[in-house]
Amino acid sequence: MDLIQDKYKRIIDYMRISIIDRCNLRCVYCMPAAGVRPLEHKSILSYEEIIKIVRIAAGLGVRKVRLTGGEPLIRKNLPYLVESISAIGGIEDISLTTNGTLLKKHARSLAAAGLRRVNVSLDSLSPERFREITRGGDIRSVLEGIREAEEAGLLPIKINMVPIRGLNDGEIEEFAQLTMQTAYQVRFIEFMPIGAREMWSNEKYLASEEIKARVSAIAPLVPVKARRAGPARYFRFENAPGVIGFISPLTHHFCASCNRLRLTSDGKLRPCLFSDTEIDLKSAMRSGAPDVEIERILRLSVEIKPQGHTITCGKNPSDLRPMSGIGG
Ligand code: SAM
Ligand code: SF4
Repeated sequence: MDLIQDKYKRIIDYMRISIIDRCNLRCVYCMPAAGVRPLEHKSILSYEEIIKIVRIAAGLGVRKVRLTGGEPLIRKNLPYLVESISAIGGIEDISLTTNGTLLKKHARSLAAAGLRRVNVSLDSLSPERFREITRGGDIRSVLEGIREAEEAGLLPIKINMVPIRGLNDGEIEEFAQLTMQTAYQVRFIEFMPIGAREMWSNEKYLASEEIKARVSAIAPLVPVKARRAGPARYFRFENAPGVIGFISPLTHHFCASCNRLRLTSDGKLRPCLFSDTEIDLKSAMRSGAPDVEIERILRLSVEIKPQGHTITCGKNPSDLRPMSGIGG
């Protein structure tokens, strides 16, 4: 085993894979109303190609894989991919980020295939506001999906919420209070100036400190030491079963501890979410490159991983590829 370390001494052991760029929702902050122009079928990595990349990456020390999109649950036969990745020596953890609308149907077969956990994105608890934010989504499908995931043992359930001023920030307290009754991890993610070009304005952005101040006004927050906290800082209300996380890509850069590489649905390695620098792995694979060449390209993407990013809320919406294409 060969743990890949970058030049800033970060160990890169986590790969986030966008398996599809399409989505069955159109969240206002992520996609334009008409959606993004979908990639052609043949441009998207096949499951066999993804499995091969993960096998080679595991040989270099990748231990954790997260499947995302677009909406990963709209891709057919996902349990096959999960099962194949779980079977790769060295892979210790496989998880999924989803909007939850199709979880009811798929949670059990995914758990049986080896999926360990799910993160469900949910930005409102009100059916009407949920419909507005997702441009037509039905919250019932998400709530049923979460319940099914719990029953299937995909624990802990993590709920990701992006508070946007004037849209859903009035629900911050209600989301936080969910952790008083359930063992959910409710994570507040700062709105980022990517993807939502027509939606973004500095006034709509809430820094994690403001969100945290509002949550702390309900009851004092106690810090929680999480074993695999990643970019989140965790707290809980005293004696509450659930946990509250704050993810602050803009105000508390987690770049210094960033352990991830991203693989886009069209087969590009993306060393940093906030930089459009990408390395084309798919073309190399499709032209018959041997495993050592794939390995070299993986190492190269780690070598060029930037030390940090400079995106702030004060900047104009960046031209970065939207999250649905990168794999948020
Ligand atoms: N469709 C799945 C979902 O919604 O969970 C997976 C893909 S989605 C792109 C992954 C995450 O990116 C979601 O939690 C979503 O809230 C987040 N996201 C997308 N655009 C964002 C933005 N401009 N700022 C903050 N988070 C964003
Ligand atoms: Fe789809 Fe997820 Fe983007 Fe919403 S956040 S439009 S569910 S990819």
